[in-house]
Amino acid sequence: MPSVAQALPLKSLTCTGGAETARAAFDLSRGQLECSGSRFGYRHRFVRTSVQFDGLVLHSSKELVWQTVASDFASMLVRFTYADGTQRLVDVDRQMAARNWFAGNRFDVPIPDETAPLSAVDTVVERPYSAATTAKARILTQARSAEMHYLRSLAYVLVIGLLVLPMIYDLLFFRILRQSFVLWHLGMVGAMTLYTLLQSGLIFELVPDLELGLRWRATAVAFVLALSSAVMVVRGLIEDRFLSRRMSAALIAAALIPVLVKIVSLIGGEALRITVNSWLMASLIPSALIVTTAVTMGLARGSQGARWAALGLSVLIAVGLLRLLVGIGLMDFGFALEDATFPAMVVLAIFTSLGVGDRFLALRHDRDQARTQAVRLGQMANTDGLTGLANRRAFDMVARLKTGQGLLLADIDRFKAVNDEYGHQIGDAVLCRVAAILRDALNEQPGAQVYRLGGEEFAVVADISDGQELMQLADRLRQTVLSIEGPETPVDLPSVTISIGAVLGHGQLMHQAFADADAALYRAKDSGRDRSVLYNAGTVANGYGRLPDARDPA
Ligand code: GH3
Ligand code: MG
Ligand code: MG
Repeated sequence: MPSVAQALPLKSLTCTGGAETARAAFDLSRGQLECSGSRFGYRHRFVRTSVQFDGLVLHSSKELVWQTVASDFASMLVRFTYADGTQRLVDVDRQMAARNWFAGNRFDVPIPDETAPLSAVDTVVERPYSAATTAKARILTQARSAEMHYLRSLAYVLVIGLLVLPMIYDLLFFRILRQSFVLWHLGMVGAMTLYTLLQSGLIFELVPDLELGLRWRATAVAFVLALSSAVMVVRGLIEDRFLSRRMSAALIAAALIPVLVKIVSLIGGEALRITVNSWLMASLIPSALIVTTAVTMGLARGSQGARWAALGLSVLIAVGLLRLLVGIGLMDFGFALEDATFPAMVVLAIFTSLGVGDRFLALRHDRDQARTQAVRLGQMANTDGLTGLANRRAFDMVARLKTGQGLLLADIDRFKAVNDEYGHQIGDAVLCRVAAILRDALNEQPGAQVYRLGGEEFAVVADISDGQELMQLADRLRQTVLSIEGPETPVDLPSVTISIGAVLGHGQLMHQAFADADAALYRAKDSGRDRSVLYNAGTVANGYGRLPDARDPA
């Protein structure tokens, strides 16, 4: 007599039938049932299954469970028949299926204890949503079920743990690099985690009251979302230069097709109940082909992202192909293949995470380079090429001369003569030297900034609120410019003098301050050069008369 050491699959022993009432379905005789290959197609509201253990006598009916795949269904009755003719009817409502969940989308129905061995199991399922619910029943001992449930639960918890890590990693990346493919990756791993929680049944530990139908629909939605975002992750991983516009659009279509089919199935309801999963599976074929083409083309062109995508997808594609072969009836692997989806997902999550990390580093490198470049260009745009001082452009960016600031406008006296006498090159050297002198002299001056406005004209802004102090600074600058010889000067440079116009800030617009300083500078030139003039609103208003603030050279 055979014993139920592992689990006894009932599929090959199962005959099916259907009727419009539960009673009529149970009343179908053995002769009215279908036992051939196509027996799991549904035409009736109530689906009947029948298993008879003729000749195959289980050693005992004690401590056994009948177990099948959970999908949505309206009601389920299971009738156990024993060798002595006893019959026991178990009403498996949806709550019971949720309560007795077995890790991996199944549930247990304890077989009522009788002294005689079990001889037949008949079920009537009202509106099942998956052929697996009627086809994939099995019998095993309670002890074996409990042990498998425990080990499988641990495995699913491990899968979830492995999926949660990439989510944390994605969140960290996204904080630094706001790229949409990081979000797609987060969505993909999130949907995979949700799918694992739902499909394994672990969700019932978190939400014990979760309605069976809702769980069934949510599982399919999570699955579709995981797949679609995986397609978008692949699209994001392949570098733009390796992805043609057409291929990029095709990948979006590949991501959308399963989502659209799923939406239609959710709207279609009862009319699409049984066919929808086949449609969904069929819709994955073009998507899989598009993704495979994109990755293959990326690989051929040397895309690093395509390499990560290919590694990530390898196991999933293998599992998908095998499932397809099983689906069209060329192979039969039993239960193991469904479970292979989970390691395939973990492999996909891990390798695409590495791809995201790789892409992240490459993008950050590009971004840093672009930033350095931009900073350099910005600096160049604001720097005078000859003297290295800030230029007119930089000066024009200062909007106002604030209270507490002073502006000096310095112009080299009779510079044209320097050019004429010594040549333009020496003229340039003088300009550089004067620039260096001004910069050095202002080193310790609080808030000082010196600009070359053009030609032989310089501007100084410094934190000075007192006219007296501002004029002292102007005089100090004139003094230092006089001692033009510096240790690093290659040739003897002619010494030059400068004239300075000064103005104090009171929050006026800079161009106004500039005009006032220029008027003062004009006075300095007009009254003999090599001197400083502080702008005084009164004198300017009175025309070019007295020069109360003009100072003679010290
Ligand atoms: P003033 O005392 O009235 O300021 O007399 P100036 O000769 O200094 O003034 P002017 O504006 O007549 O001449 C300025 C000269 O500066 C004319 C131009 O050739 C010279 N110059 C302007 N930019 C440069 C430059 O970049 N390099 C050299 N070497 N000379 C320059
Ligand atoms: Mg000049
Ligand atoms: Mg000038």
